[in-house]
Amino acid sequence: MDYFNYKNGKLFAENVSVEKIADEVGTPVYIYSKATFKEHLQKIRQAYSRLDTTICYSVKACGNINILKFMAEAGSGFDIVSGGELYRVLLAGGKPSKIVYAGIGKTDTEIIEALDAGICYFNIESEAELENLIRLAKQQGKQSKAALRVNPDVMYKTHAFLTTGRKETKFGVDIERALKVFADYGDNAAVSLCVIHVHLGTGGKKIDPYVEAVEKILPLIDQLRSKGHTIEALDLGGGYGADYESGTVPSAAEYAAGIVPLLKDKNLKLILEPGKSICANAGIMLTRVLYIKQGGRKKFVIVDAGMNDLIRPSLYDAFHFIWPAKVDDKFVPPQREENLRLDGTEVVDVVGPICESADFFAKDRGLPPVKRGDLLSVFTAGAYGFSMSSNYNARCRVAEVLVDGEKFSVIRKRETYEDLTALEK
Ligand SMILES: *Cc1c(COP(=O)(O)O)cnc(C)c1O
Repeated sequence: MDYFNYKNGKLFAENVSVEKIADEVGTPVYIYSKATFKEHLQKIRQAYSRLDTTICYSVKACGNINILKFMAEAGSGFDIVSGGELYRVLLAGGKPSKIVYAGIGKTDTEIIEALDAGICYFNIESEAELENLIRLAKQQGKQSKAALRVNPDVMYKTHAFLTTGRKETKFGVDIERALKVFADYGDNAAVSLCVIHVHLGTGGKKIDPYVEAVEKILPLIDQLRSKGHTIEALDLGGGYGADYESGTVPSAAEYAAGIVPLLKDKNLKLILEPGKSICANAGIMLTRVLYIKQGGRKKFVIVDAGMNDLIRPSLYDAFHFIWPAKVDDKFVPPQREENLRLDGTEVVDVVGPICESADFFAKDRGLPPVKRGDLLSVFTAGAYGFSMSSNYNARCRVAEVLVDGEKFSVIRKRETYEDLTALEK
């Protein structure tokens, strides 16, 4: 479900034609739908309403301050991974009491900033980090709470770069070691270790790993409680499926149907850190066709966006549905799927202008015939799209636009050449 739909063959973001945005703002451009963000948040909230649940939207997925602002207004908490993200969230009016802070390499400066802000939990990934947090909290005269990140060692199927919940990862500690961490550090005045945090990875499409993880974590929580430790919450992390292809991932309600029954009557608060499942299909990247080139047997569609603007296909071999923003009736896509072939489509590679073979958005993809000047929509680009973009090749980072019903506004200006060198003088 999202609010990017074709009307009479023209792509609309809510009630605004994307062509109109391209004409006014230029391309490439990220276009977000506010209604889609809010609907996902609401659906997750509803799905878990039988538990005391805090939803902490994962800022790194799509962190424009204007987006954080309306998410905060809608009652969302935030999952952050750096001091910069803390800064963004506070500036956006996010409540510190709903911020959780993950990451294996927090610096002293970042930890002190988060202690000063009074965030909800530090998500701790190692004994060394916890020791340092305790030291800094004492030094600053602050008290804080922490979650220990545990690897339940469940199979979470995704790209090798995207799994984090196995034993051999740099993230968190395994279940046996968790007992020892609580024994060694559970009883100290500065930092109350009172939450178990799990984050399995990202890009999976199944409910079972979450169910399995909860089933493995609950006995640990029982054991810890029997030793006198207070465990007030379970943080189940993020990684819930996002609609890159129509209808291929479980809904929030389906995840909840697996998870909630296991947690009722456990006297545990639940924290969720959804990123993608909220923002992925709340955004598209709109790009314009520059040239068509025949190379051997292959046809290349060269567009004005590059891997610096959207790196997921190059980095993770990620799939994004791509389709022209204006099509004849017969080419209106019935659904978004990788192997969609309609009568009359051609098989092409969609590539960017950067001097790297990895600079592509799609290979051997069916597409209606396009020509120079046509607009293409790269769908489901809201998550890890703009937030992972860079200035590689001295390319200006693109504009971000937020659509709200009939209105749209530029929420981040396109960078200029002056911006590129501004800090170098
Ligand atoms: C990245 C991340 C998330 C969000 O992952 P999604 O796949 O975008 O839902 C949540 N929690 C932690 C700790 C993360 O690192």
